[in-house]
Amino acid sequence: ASLVAGSLGALSEVLGDAQRAAGATERLLDLLETQSPVQSVLLPERLPPRTANGAALQLEHVGFHYPSRPDSNSLNHFSLDVRPGETVAVVGPSGAGKTTLFQLLLRFYDPQQGSIRLDGVDIRFLSLHDLRQAIGIVPQDTVIFSANAMENIRFGRPDASDAEVIAAAQMAAAHEFIERLPEGYQSFLGERGVRLSGGQRQRIAIARALLKNPPLLLLDEATSALDAESERLVQSALEAAMVGRTTLVIAHRLATVQRADRIIVLEHGHVVETGTHAGLIAQNGLYASLAALQFNAD
Ligand code: ADP
Ligand code: MG
Repeated sequence: ASLVAGSLGALSEVLGDAQRAAGATERLLDLLETQSPVQSVLLPERLPPRTANGAALQLEHVGFHYPSRPDSNSLNHFSLDVRPGETVAVVGPSGAGKTTLFQLLLRFYDPQQGSIRLDGVDIRFLSLHDLRQAIGIVPQDTVIFSANAMENIRFGRPDASDAEVIAAAQMAAAHEFIERLPEGYQSFLGERGVRLSGGQRQRIAIARALLKNPPLLLLDEATSALDAESERLVQSALEAAMVGRTTLVIAHRLATVQRADRIIVLEHGHVVETGTHAGLIAQNGLYASLAALQFNAD
């Protein structure tokens, strides 16, 4: 399943990044905002100055149903307190509310009950620009644009220099494969260009996120299998991406949940178990059965 469903669809992945882009993209965003189910406040609050560890995130008794399904809550009394710098893995069966959680954090919708606070500020009182500036997303399915490799990564921060793009690619374990492309960073990617493997696309997405350098990172780990080499490179890229920021990751891999500071297990829109991998396996509940299936839900 994609990170964001509905009419905002394909654009959603890049919204935060696109906010900064000039011209046509800005107009597209105006259009999106006029169609958006969320309202902007007239005098938005600002986030406090960034700390070295990343953002604090607090969800309190969040209740949410999609507009089309008024009788069915996708999140229900969902509460979560994430410390700056913490990595929280989110696991749960299909339909548990994992993707919905990310959509609410990005404010594609507002919850009907409860509140979401980023560094103490209710996200409804932030401008959408500031909110999405503070959040980086590595989606399950990375959009590769019809542009060269340099521009594809620079999308994470349009004013980044070539040297900054290359540094991000190095940290994301993307530099080596890009250098081996026929024209290196100038190689044209996308449908009419070089086709990248799943692992390579993910590393492009991670490089974009590193370039953006947000205090809060949302990762939606790919469900599809990667070959062992890609798997290792993606894991090392993720490792780099989590440093100095708060991370929420919809996890499908054992290596990812084992590295998390905390795992939360979602079912029917709220947290049913929480702990570390070893602790949750010992509980022999929902987590243990999901782990036995290798978290292979979407
Ligand atoms: P997960 O990502 O854990 O598989 P989701 O957050 O996608 O779960 O879905 C949680 C619940 O919300 C499910 O019951 C799903 O059917 C419902 N849902 C998800 N997206 C939409 C949507 N765009 N409109 C209506 N219902 C939705
Ligand atoms: Mg999902």
